[in-house]
Amino acid sequence: MIDFNNKTNHDELDHKALQEAANSCTKCGLCEERTNVVFYCGNQQSNLMIIGEGPGQQEDEQGIPFVGRAGQLLTKILESVEINRDDIYITNTVKCRPPKNRTPLQSEMDECQDYLVRQIQIVQPKIICLLGSAAVKAVLGPTESISKIRGKWITKPVSYMEDDLYIMPMFHPSYLLRNPSKKHGAPKWLTWTDMKEVKAALNFYDIMN
Ligand code: URA
Repeated sequence: MIDFNNKTNHDELDHKALQEAANSCTKCGLCEERTNVVFYCGNQQSNLMIIGEGPGQQEDEQGIPFVGRAGQLLTKILESVEINRDDIYITNTVKCRPPKNRTPLQSEMDECQDYLVRQIQIVQPKIICLLGSAAVKAVLGPTESISKIRGKWITKPVSYMEDDLYIMPMFHPSYLLRNPSKKHGAPKWLTWTDMKEVKAALNFYDIMN
């Protein structure tokens, strides 16, 4: 479980310097086969941060998170609630592609954790969406299965704001690609309702600020 208030090895770094540090990172074996470090895309001032699992082939080639098939679906889900992906901050638990798109190892997520913690401390999102069980595990530690905890807000204290940080676990878009039914109660339908919740929370923050 991440301590969002934790000191990291990167406390002195701003976003640009942090990204540069990640670009030359060799802390785990994933550095050996990467084409690009996939650090983030979007808006560093956003109230919303989305955290996925790790880059796939297209992301590795382009250096941008969520640009492959799963990314295109994520973009559509966001657009269905009028969120433009360029307006929010998108990143992953690990910044380099795991071979053959396997799930990142706990040791790889641990080595990459300081980058993610520092990203959260710099961007200071009010809301975080965790996409899939790897992101949930990296940020919240062991929990019930994703199908049990998705759609339920989890709140955590953070030093950068008075209110708690709101965290929404959701299904990963790759899972939705494998389960394409849009029927009431199916994973896609549930994800759409989860994203509507996120949009409502974002609207609330916009009104308050
Ligand atoms: N899946 C992820 O979890 N992240 C990406 O960037 C792309 C696919």
